[in-house]
Amino acid sequence: MLLTPHTMVGLAIGASISNPGIAVPLSFVMHFMGDLVPHWDFYSNTTDEQRRVGWRPIAVMADLGLGVAVGMFFTLYALWVVGNTSLALNMFLCGVAAVLPDALAAPLMFTQKPNIISVVIGKIQSRLQFQAPIFWGLLTQVLITVFAFLVISNSLTQ
Ligand SMILES: [Zn+2]
Repeated sequence: MLLTPHTMVGLAIGASISNPGIAVPLSFVMHFMGDLVPHWDFYSNTTDEQRRVGWRPIAVMADLGLGVAVGMFFTLYALWVVGNTSLALNMFLCGVAAVLPDALAAPLMFTQKPNIISVVIGKIQSRLQFQAPIFWGLLTQVLITVFAFLVISNSLTQ
């Protein structure tokens, strides 16, 4: 799944579960649940070679940049507009935890000899990834993102 919807799910968990001891690990686990949802991403049906060259790594970086921007936006909104420091911190940590599995697996893209953690996380992820054709695969992620947005805005405007 793309990084931005993963981030949104983490932020939604952080916005609705105030205990970081529960919310942060749950955000991490929900990453793998997200990958189980049929989806399309830049790595769908590609070879290792295709993942390393051309437009795909750039698209992944753009998606990462968008995810970080969205995470920072809602964190700062919780901090400055809502004025709730613990909520902001919780959402930030959940946003990070929600994309951590992909960050841990990232070395697989850049090196031929990745570390053991990357290998294990990458194996788990490639087993869970449920690919879908681009239209349906993006639609599921749009729906998840919209749902997460509603949860976040509902929590932040109470
Ligand atoms: Zn993933």
